[in-house]
Amino acid sequence: MRDNFFVNRVGYWQICCIFASLLVITKKNKYMSRIEEDKHTVRQMVEIYCHGNHHTREGLCEECRTLLEYSHFRLDHCKFGENKTTCKVCPVHCYKPEMRERMRRVMIYAGPRMLWHHPLAALRHLWREMR
Ligand SMILES: [Zn+2]
Repeated sequence: MRDNFFVNRVGYWQICCIFASLLVITKKNKYMSRIEEDKHTVRQMVEIYCHGNHHTREGLCEECRTLLEYSHFRLDHCKFGENKTTCKVCPVHCYKPEMRERMRRVMIYAGPRMLWHHPLAALRHLWREMR
């Protein structure tokens, strides 16, 4: 009886946590600017690529960090600002060819994997925030 009560309480607590997390996620997305959102997405994709191909566990290797910083720099200077489309369909090729090719490889690798990795990454991020 006592055990059951405890298990139920833990269950409720977990459900509350999930709802709170969802609230935080939706709130965050609502107030995140287009540029910030893209920076966030590109970071996740570069991380997936780096972890998968360069076998880094935390953070990014030198090469991928340079690429991420470059892409964030480009996003900061995007002339479309908050009205930007996705970079893939953008008429302006603002990346220099070498970076463009590297980013293309990241997108090909990380694109399909985002579906699986994104929810976990979001939870991990929340978990880190709560600590
Ligand atoms: Zn890497």
